[in-house]
Amino acid sequence: MGVKNKRTLTKTRRKLRDLDQIKADILSPKHLTQYKDTKAVEDLPALGRNYCVECAKWFESETNLVAHRRGKVHKRRVKQLKEEPYTQKVSDAAVGLWTDNGRGKPDTESHADIDMAT
Ligand SMILES: [Zn+2]
Repeated sequence: MGVKNKRTLTKTRRKLRDLDQIKADILSPKHLTQYKDTKAVEDLPALGRNYCVECAKWFESETNLVAHRRGKVHKRRVKQLKEEPYTQKVSDAAVGLWTDNGRGKPDTESHADIDMAT
C-alpha cells in the first residue's frame, strides 16, 4: 500500500504546516479540508483516518494517534498554538509607544508636570 518510492516518503515526512496555517485549520474546518484535499488519501497512513490537527500529522493507527495526543510533542504544540503571535502593537507597547489617537497619553501624570512648570 501507499507510496512505492520510499525516498519520497522519507524526504517529505518531516515537512509540517506552519503554526499560522494550523491555527486557520482549527478555526475553519473548510480550510483544513482544503489542505487535506491536496493530499491523495491512498498516500496517507491508514488512508488519512488518524489525523492530528494541531500537529498536522497523520498516524498509522488510532492507537498511535491516541498515544501521540497524550505525548510531550503534542502538548508542546497545543501550548504554542494557544500563545498569541506577537503583533506590532505588543512590540510598540514594550518600548513605551502607544496609539496616538488624539485622546492624549494613557497616563495623566504628564498634566501635573505641565502645571508645575508654568
Ligand atoms: Zn498532535
